[in-house]
Amino acid sequence: MMAAAIETDVVVVGAGPVGLTLANLLADLGVKTLLVDRARTVSDEPRAISITDESLRVMHQIGIAERLAPEMLMDTGARYFGRKGQLLAEVRARQRRLGQPAKSQFDQPVLARFLLDAAGARPLVTVRFETEARNVVSGKDFVDIELASDQGVQAVRCKWLVACDGGRSPTRTQLGIVLEGSTQVERWIVIDVMNSPHAPEPFSQFHCNGKRPCVIVPGVKGRCRYEFMLLPGDDPDGVLEPESVIRLVAPYQTIEARDIRRAAVYMAQQRIAQTYRKGRVLLAGDAAHLMPPFAGQGLNSGVRDAANLAWKLAALVRVEASDALLDTYEQERRPHAAEMVRLSYRIGKVVMSTSPVATALRDGAISALGIVPSAKAWIVGMKFLRQPHFVDGCVQTPSARVPQAAADLVGKALAQPRVREADGATCWLDAVLGPEWSTLHFRPDGHIQAVRQGSAGQAGASSVVDDLDGLFKDLHASGAVLLVRPDRYVAAAVASPDQMTDAFRALEHFLPGLGNAFGTTALRHASLEDPCHASWSPPLGENTQQLHH
Ligand SMILES: Cc1cc2nc3c(=O)[nH]c(=O)nc-3n(C[C@H](O)[C@H](O)[C@H](O)COP(=O)(O)OP(=O)(O)OC[C@H]3O[C@@H](n4cnc5c(N)ncnc54)[C@H](O)[C@@H]3O)c2cc1C
Repeated sequence: MMAAAIETDVVVVGAGPVGLTLANLLADLGVKTLLVDRARTVSDEPRAISITDESLRVMHQIGIAERLAPEMLMDTGARYFGRKGQLLAEVRARQRRLGQPAKSQFDQPVLARFLLDAAGARPLVTVRFETEARNVVSGKDFVDIELASDQGVQAVRCKWLVACDGGRSPTRTQLGIVLEGSTQVERWIVIDVMNSPHAPEPFSQFHCNGKRPCVIVPGVKGRCRYEFMLLPGDDPDGVLEPESVIRLVAPYQTIEARDIRRAAVYMAQQRIAQTYRKGRVLLAGDAAHLMPPFAGQGLNSGVRDAANLAWKLAALVRVEASDALLDTYEQERRPHAAEMVRLSYRIGKVVMSTSPVATALRDGAISALGIVPSAKAWIVGMKFLRQPHFVDGCVQTPSARVPQAAADLVGKALAQPRVREADGATCWLDAVLGPEWSTLHFRPDGHIQAVRQGSAGQAGASSVVDDLDGLFKDLHASGAVLLVRPDRYVAAAVASPDQMTDAFRALEHFLPGLGNAFGTTALRHASLEDPCHASWSPPLGENTQQLHH
């Protein structure tokens, strides 16, 4: 007998890092969310250890970045060693374009716990563990689903359902969505050790020795990750015995059995779901894409999914968007995830090679690339890890009138400098922009005016700031305006405030009311340049937000 039906805006299936991130973001946009997981609590499997600047920006938004900081080895790079142990390449992205280091080491169970705490503190999120989601039916206006737990089976009706239920995604299988790609034959043993006595160096080590390829990733608080490729003849069960683990790690570190936090054997997969959406059900995280861990992009791609999806679902729940907006989720996210799957696979091939001829050729080729400055800069600066750049989706192709420096930003994540507000206080740019849409006007007087989306016919707050890190120096005093989405991607760029209506018109297919939300604001932008309207201009400091983090 089924218990009474419950209703909610969104059901998120799976309280892994992606489902938890999504639930937090949805709640901050006013969406009532039910998050369910069949496990007893969040997983303590130490899987992901590399986190990108974009993910950290999202964690900042959720409010857990400060708590995470002592658990992370910030700003790390990687060293690749050849078959004779020689250093082939040292890579480290130096630029902090998004206000965070490009790569840092962290601990997935710690992140999941903090995200769970954050969800618990948001009244709009209900989290239910030991609850299995099944029998998903996507209808015209609702999704119906059954939740099975010790208390029985409960029917749930929601407006949208997001399956963040991992690589094996029962929801994806039930909906018949094909996962395209392949599984690698090579297996790896992944070992996490504790009590590592050395002060951690900010570099992962890839030992591409051609004999027993190995990856070592140091962390804080005595944590260290070892990954060894299994060779033909290795017994996948036997290698997990403590004596075997101790022997494998011995060339790099002396450990005892009690130092082993966890050891598991994995087979890498490179796969992507054929579609990310079926009716009112969407896939995110590992349910949508699986990739070898060598580029550290699986969880990071999932966090990108969550950030991309949250504001779109919120706009639909609030009846502010057309259904077409939701189609842009797959349009924007799938190509980049597919690129990360391919990149992870290629890095794996470089690392895993055991043929003497192939490893000698590889070492020679990488050394030769180091002689060519552009190739060297590409490798050393980790430029092979391309950030997303949406050409199709909820973005407007800039017109020829837009300054090139502004046009180049459309479809990309907005840079995040520290800014100084009119009263001299400093903060990160995101704090000024708020959780919804915003505009950034690079005023002819050299200041940047940030305006938040208004609500219910009210103009949003406006702040005038200076870019302290020079990340927008190419736009300085250009007069251009950027339209920034809630996920901090630039949706449009125009040459001057009076052209903002073009940008709103281009996006009205997705968000018909967006222009209204900035209606009074657009006038306010224009007034700053129009002396006839000088009395409309707020003086520097008036109506300026005092936000710090
Ligand atoms: C060795 C290793 C190293 C890695 N390193 C990195 C790295 O450095 N950087 C990186 O970005 N990524 C890395 N990854 C990948 C990363 O761990 C995954 O991408 C990430 O865990 C995916 O998160 P998720 O929330 O999508 O899925 P999961 O973490 O798998 O969570 C899915 C959840 O769904 C629940 N669930 C499933 N079915 C149901 C159901 N029917 N009802 C209710 N609940 C259900 C499960 O219990 C689970 O809790 C690594 C992976 C491995 C294995």
